[in-house]
Amino acid sequence: MDLGLRPEAQALLMRVKEMITEEIMPLEEAYHAEIGQGDRWGYTARQAEILEGLKAKAKARGLWNFWLTDSDKGLGLSTVEYAYFAEEMGKTPMGAEVFNCNAPDTGNMEVFERYGSAAMKEQWLKPLLEGEIRSAYLMTEPDEASSDATNISMRCERDGDDYVLNGEKWWASGAGDPRCKVYIVMVRTGGDDAPKHKRHSMIVVPAGTEGVEVLRPMQVYGSDDAPHGHMHIRMTNVRVPAENMILGEGRGFEVAQGRLGPGRIHHCMRAIGQAEAALEMMCRRSLQREAFGKAIAHLGANYDIIANARMEIEQARLLCLKTAWMMDQGDMKAAAPWIHQIKVVAPLMSLKVIDEAVQMFGAQGISQDTALAGMWKNVRTLRLADGPDAVHRRQVARTELRKYTQERI
Ligand SMILES: Cc1cc2nc3c(=O)[nH]c(=O)nc-3n(C[C@H](O)[C@H](O)[C@H](O)COP(=O)(O)OP(=O)(O)OC[C@H]3O[C@@H](n4cnc5c(N)ncnc54)[C@H](O)[C@@H]3O)c2cc1C
Repeated sequence: MDLGLRPEAQALLMRVKEMITEEIMPLEEAYHAEIGQGDRWGYTARQAEILEGLKAKAKARGLWNFWLTDSDKGLGLSTVEYAYFAEEMGKTPMGAEVFNCNAPDTGNMEVFERYGSAAMKEQWLKPLLEGEIRSAYLMTEPDEASSDATNISMRCERDGDDYVLNGEKWWASGAGDPRCKVYIVMVRTGGDDAPKHKRHSMIVVPAGTEGVEVLRPMQVYGSDDAPHGHMHIRMTNVRVPAENMILGEGRGFEVAQGRLGPGRIHHCMRAIGQAEAALEMMCRRSLQREAFGKAIAHLGANYDIIANARMEIEQARLLCLKTAWMMDQGDMKAAAPWIHQIKVVAPLMSLKVIDEAVQMFGAQGISQDTALAGMWKNVRTLRLADGPDAVHRRQVARTELRKYTQERI
């Protein structure tokens, strides 16, 4: 089992690290200061100039779409190798988007690439790969416990050459962005007589189709995450051509599985990057600030806190790399239990490390003056987004128990 990087991937990673520290990080503050200066759900000229300028540089240097593992359109990285890139990109909020590796677009591109028709590839995948438009994934519904996706109830009826959609979705990440032009929507097409995992479908709805109403941004601990946003959306008699159905009616779970596996591990890789960034901040701060006659690092149990953070990051990273390696073997069914494990382990670990860093910073740690509060907020959401911890634990336990019983679990 090789969990390392080939020399060419290592060289590429160095270029990414350099661009992040020398060009992206110095512009983060100026970029975020622009949000709310004009329309919160738009981009000021300065904001667009920063983001699009960095994207253009990354693209021109060939530092683009690293997430496309196992594809002739990408740079030929394995999932293991991509883990190192995602970790670096996770260290800074703009990192992933500058290299066109951000959620939910990567998951949606994955769907178009693997399951989309030629027309979908042309209309949606092409501009997404170029970073010209953005997309959203609409599964979760306000009135259904959506951690069990078999509950999804948005109606989608065939009417002549069209499908007609009715219902509500919420937490559609990225749907607030004016550049978001397309939604991939999970809908119910089958009746109760169909097998449980054949009742749902995935369909493409262009943003702005008649009958689509963006009702409000959902807030994450009081923040609307503008201009990205996690939107509450209502669809009333939204009509799309029948060819917008992905793969065919009843194949929604097949598509969801293909989408969520890579998406989940990418979140975990970036969460590990955030933990690394928090540990570095904690160490620097605790060495530089003094209390009771000593640098804070040398007080109380702070060596233990720092040591535990290092050890827990290393454990999570190894599990993440092993999961990536399992995915690289090509059998997603075999990799699934590992994806479930890391989806619980990485956010919990990262949240703990960031929380310790907040504590070591004192009051400043929860304020707007460091990146820590935003990092905590983002990582906390990962314990829900792409499935709550309990759902992933359930799958890990089922895999374990099946080794010892013939019962259906
Ligand atoms: C910031 C953020 C971004 C998101 N982005 C998107 C997005 O882009 N697109 C999208 O479709 N959704 C998105 N989501 C929604 C997310 O995927 C759902 O919130 C999640 O799947 C859980 O669904 P639910 O909120 O309906 O919780 P519910 O299904 O109501 O579950 C609530 C709780 O019930 C408990 N529970 C559930 N199942 C079990 C079990 N088997 N065992 C024990 N306890 C259990 C758990 O404690 C769980 O947290 C996002 C969420 C957040 C916070």
